Amino acid sequence: MWSTGREVAAGDVVIVWQTRELVQPLLITPGKDFNSKFGHYRHSDLVGIPYGSRVDSRNGRGFIHILRPTPELWTMALPHRTQILYLADIAFITSWLDIRRGSRVIEAGTGSGSFSHSVARTVGPSGRLYSYEFHEGRAEKAREEFIRHGMQDIVTLTHRNVCKDGFTVENSADAVFLDLPAPWDAVVHAKKALRKDRPARICCFSPCMEQVMRAVSALNEAGFTDITMYETLLRPHEVQQFPTPLPLSHVIDKLKDMEKFREEKRLRQIANHKRKREDAEFSEPDKRARTDELNAGDQNSLQAPLITVREEDDANEVEAQMVSLSKVCHEVRGHTSYLTFARLVPFMPETLESAAQAPPLTDN
Ligand code: SAM
Repeated sequence: MWSTGREVAAGDVVIVWQTRELVQPLLITPGKDFNSKFGHYRHSDLVGIPYGSRVDSRNGRGFIHILRPTPELWTMALPHRTQILYLADIAFITSWLDIRRGSRVIEAGTGSGSFSHSVARTVGPSGRLYSYEFHEGRAEKAREEFIRHGMQDIVTLTHRNVCKDGFTVENSADAVFLDLPAPWDAVVHAKKALRKDRPARICCFSPCMEQVMRAVSALNEAGFTDITMYETLLRPHEVQQFPTPLPLSHVIDKLKDMEKFREEKRLRQIANHKRKREDAEFSEPDKRARTDELNAGDQNSLQAPLITVREEDDANEVEAQMVSLSKVCHEVRGHTSYLTFARLVPFMPETLESAAQAPPLTDN
């Protein structure tokens, strides 16, 4: 998938990163220009630069970064022809459908190909993605993209209505993902396509609870089990670094000093009380002289230790004491629909037979 070269070449699809909100794909075509509010660039200037480079504009209006595409970047940058799946859902679905290297996966519909790119990378050349799209224009565009991105050996795209005509494979898919307006109409076809020699999985992506209920009913009727619905929510963490200006050992030493100080103060107060009681027996001028002496003693010897940076603490040691703290932000929606998963577990009559022939369990 995509170029694996270190440097950008003519004909490569690159990702132009302008800001977090402005990420665009670009087909490098020498002779063409790229213009944005961050300046003016010539495609030919990008040929030969290493992927990941920052490029300054020709007219001094800003800069861009040229990145090698990944499925994640492609999802951020792709031209939208439909609503698409985003990374939180893609990751969750891939994991719960148990999609891995070598898996045979079905998706319908292809839409803008956001999910397709991630799955194609996961299954790799030893696997297969069968993708179905009934809108001819979208199917054509997706096909062109898959070829341009070097995915044609992994993805087979078919233009068809899967709710009416079903899929092109039988008894061989490990997983089916349905992102359709009426996934329940495709459930029986999905059952036909899934393998029967070991458990296989399905996921329906539905935007509202009524549609989830219809999908669940269809899955139940078709004999799927372990039907479970999930909603993906993101909880971002805001991470910040704070300096702790003192090495921990230094703080511990100072706390010990403080403890010692408090103990000395306590003993001194006891001694004072004792003396004051004894003073009651002295004459008035003698008493004043004794009180002045005691107060002076307190000020001279009872100084609380201050926690400050010692002179010998060098700057590096202090800098090394940075701590990262994370603040949990409010939950945000990380999805556009509910995810209903189910399993198709093979019916194995021989297992039932042997269970029936097994001797009955006894108390011994
Ligand atoms: N998952 C895709 C992605 O991540 O880019 C987006 C899929 S989009 C929401 C749904 C697509 O399903 C549309 O392109 C639509 O044309 C297609 N579709 C709807 N009904 C279909 C059917 N019965 N057979 C095949 N494709 C269908």
